[in-house]
Amino acid sequence: MYKKDFPIFTNTKFNGFDLVYLDSAATSQKPQIVISKLKEFYEKYNANIYRGIYKLSEESTELYEKTRSRVADFLNVSSSEIVFTKGTTDGINFIVYAYAKNKLKKGDLVLLTEMEHHSNIVPWQILSKNIGFNIEYVPISKDGKLKDLDKFLEFKPKILSITHVSNVLGSVNDISYISNMAHKIGCTVIVDGAQAVSHMKVDLKLLDCDFYVFSAHKMFGPTGVGILYGKNEILSELEPIFGGGEMISSVTKDDVVFKDSPFKFEAGTQNFADVSVFSNSIDYIENIGINNISSYIKDLHSYAVKKLKGIKGLRIYGEGNLSGIVSFDINGIHPHDIATLLNENNIAVRAGHHCAQILMSSLGVSSLTRCSLQIYNDKSDIDKLVSSLDKIVSYFK
Ligand code: PLP
Repeated sequence: MYKKDFPIFTNTKFNGFDLVYLDSAATSQKPQIVISKLKEFYEKYNANIYRGIYKLSEESTELYEKTRSRVADFLNVSSSEIVFTKGTTDGINFIVYAYAKNKLKKGDLVLLTEMEHHSNIVPWQILSKNIGFNIEYVPISKDGKLKDLDKFLEFKPKILSITHVSNVLGSVNDISYISNMAHKIGCTVIVDGAQAVSHMKVDLKLLDCDFYVFSAHKMFGPTGVGILYGKNEILSELEPIFGGGEMISSVTKDDVVFKDSPFKFEAGTQNFADVSVFSNSIDYIENIGINNISSYIKDLHSYAVKKLKGIKGLRIYGEGNLSGIVSFDINGIHPHDIATLLNENNIAVRAGHHCAQILMSSLGVSSLTRCSLQIYNDKSDIDKLVSSLDKIVSYFK
C-alpha cells in the first residue's frame, strides 16, 4: 500500500523482476516527497545558513532550524538538545571524544554489549588504547536478550553504551529500565538508536538516557545526516572538538568564546540541504503514524517468520523479536550464495557479519542472511523471498 510512495520500485527492474528490497536496516528507500523536496531546496532555497542577512539565506536557515525543532518534538525533547551530525557513527565518535575522553581514566570501566554494531565498539576500543580504561561486554542469551546486565552494573561502569534495537537479532532493549538502573550508580547511558527510530515510538523523556544517536538515511531521509541528542546539562558543559566558522560568539588573537550548544558543535558549513529535507521524512512518518508503522512491521514480520519456518533447514536467530529484522541461516548453504542467488530474482538481502562480529562469534556463526522490513514491503515480497529460497534449497540438495 505504501510502495507507490517510493519511486525506486517503479524505476528499477533486474532480470525482468521488480525490486524486492529487504535491506532497510542498511538504508531505507526514499519517498517521492523527500526526493522532490531535495530538488526543490536546490531550486528555490539554496544559500548558506546563518551567514547571509538576505532573504534566501534566512529562508534556508529557517528550514534548517525547522528540522531541529521537528526532530526535538518527534523525540519529546528540546531543540537545544539536538545536534546535527553525519550519522550514527559520527554521533558515537563525537560522544567518545567530546565527552568520554575527559571523563575516563586508566582502570575505569566502559560497558558495552555483545550485540553492538561495530560503530559502538571500535571508537571505544581506539580510545581505550590511549587511556587504558577497560571494556566489558554484557553477554546475550540464545534468543538475543541481554544476560546479567545487573551483575555487570555492580562493577560500577562509568559509561554504558548500548543499542536500542539489535541490527542482527532485532532484540529491543528496555532503555528506560536500563537508564534507571545505571543512573543509580552514576553511570552515563549512551544509546545507539539507529535501528529503532524509524519504526517505534522513541520518547526520550521516558527513556531518560543521557545521549541518543541515529541516522536519517535509515528513516526515509537523506544520507549524510545524523542526530545526536544529549541532555542540556551535559551538552552545555562540553567543549567542542571541532572549531571553525559559525560556532563562535567572538574570536581574538588570544581567545575564543563559543556559542551555546547545540551551535558550538556545528562548525563550518553544515549539510544544510539534506538536514532541511529531513523534516519531510519526519512528516512522512507522522502522516502514517509511528504506531501504525510499528504494528504494520510487526504483522509483516510474523508473516515472514511463519513462511520462512516452512523452508527445510532454515533457522531464525532472535525469532521472538518482531522489529522487522529477520536473520537466518540454511543448513549447508553459505549466506553469500543465498544473497547472490536471490539477487538473480532482484531480491535484495544482506549477507555477512552485519558489522557485528562479536555478536556473530557469540552466536557461534561467521555470517547470516538478513532480511529487514519497512513500510513499503508487503506479503508479496515475503512470498517472492520464500519461493526463491525454496528453489535455492532444492538446487543445493
Ligand atoms: N548502529 C546500528 C545498530 C546500525 O545498524 C548501524 C548501521 O547499520 C549503525 C550503528 C551505523 O550507522 P551509520 O552507518 O549510519 O553511521
